[in-house]
Amino acid sequence: RAKADGRGTFRRYAAGMDVHMQARQELKVALRNALARNELDLFFQPLVDLSSSRVSSCEALVRWRHPDKGMVSPADFIPVAEETGLIIPIGEWVLRTACEQASGWEGDIGVAVNLSPLQFKDGDLVKIVSDALEASGLAPSRLQLEITESVMLDENEANLHILQELRHLGVKIAMDDFGTGYSSLGYLRSFPFDKIKVDRGFISDLPEGKESLAIVRAVAGIGRSLGITTTVEGVETQEQLDAVNAEGFDEAQGYLFSRPVPAADIPDILRRMGS
Ligand code: C2E
Ligand code: MG
Ligand code: MG
Ligand code: MG
Repeated sequence: RAKADGRGTFRRYAAGMDVHMQARQELKVALRNALARNELDLFFQPLVDLSSSRVSSCEALVRWRHPDKGMVSPADFIPVAEETGLIIPIGEWVLRTACEQASGWEGDIGVAVNLSPLQFKDGDLVKIVSDALEASGLAPSRLQLEITESVMLDENEANLHILQELRHLGVKIAMDDFGTGYSSLGYLRSFPFDKIKVDRGFISDLPEGKESLAIVRAVAGIGRSLGITTTVEGVETQEQLDAVNAEGFDEAQGYLFSRPVPAADIPDILRRMGS
């Protein structure tokens, strides 16, 4: 009986893998055509300066309108893009499109673009960024590049060198999802980040979560001491906003202010929320 159970379990598991791998394979094929077929789109989500309550910048978040599946989350297709190498052309398209959009915004509103660690391996990142700035006419100081700890992990020295070159262009470098990796604090010593974005995971249980509050408070203190702009992501309630305000954070982002919206809605949001 035990043997039969074991086989049954195995068969179910194997069938599940097949379905999963087939779905992933289909996604790969479809993603290969997505750029050429204009299925990718950039949404933007405002970041609010907490001392003035005005929008300081907007984060570009890529969206994929799959012909049959509808909107596919970047959490689902960015890993596929990385696995296939498609993240290189997609990442370049995101940079160019984000800079172009932002150059049309009023005031000196910044734009934040997420970078995959694979874009650092490609060799052309610095040129791609400077070309995007030049083509759009966007002032380099208005572009913020968001990287995660994995950029600091592999090929540390090479990536540090690229980060320095990017910094020389005049763009800002932000550490995204801060606190989710292993040794975030060490990274703050190896590169002078302009901004830290505390991961949403530390915000969701505020103000009750004692551990989250202690960590968030410590990060605010480190940012202050190092002269790094401190941001939190994932603020959904007024209570969470009050808590991060009390800790002295510079900026906040989250559904409380706005969900990510199509580029066409940004001018309106900037008028309404101030810029
Ligand atoms: P991220 O860079 O940490 O972006 C923030 C994510 O949190 C976004 O999810 C945003 O929609 C979501 N978010 C913002 N405020 C709230 C909130 O109040 N509550 C909740 N529950 N969620 C909130 P999204 O757009 O699904 O993107 C997921 C991740 O995909 C991003 O995380 C980023 O790592 C990646 N990604 C998105 N666009 C790009 C891109 O152009 N290139 C690369 N390499 N990665 C991207
Ligand atoms: Mg980000
Ligand atoms: Mg983030
Ligand atoms: Mg995140």
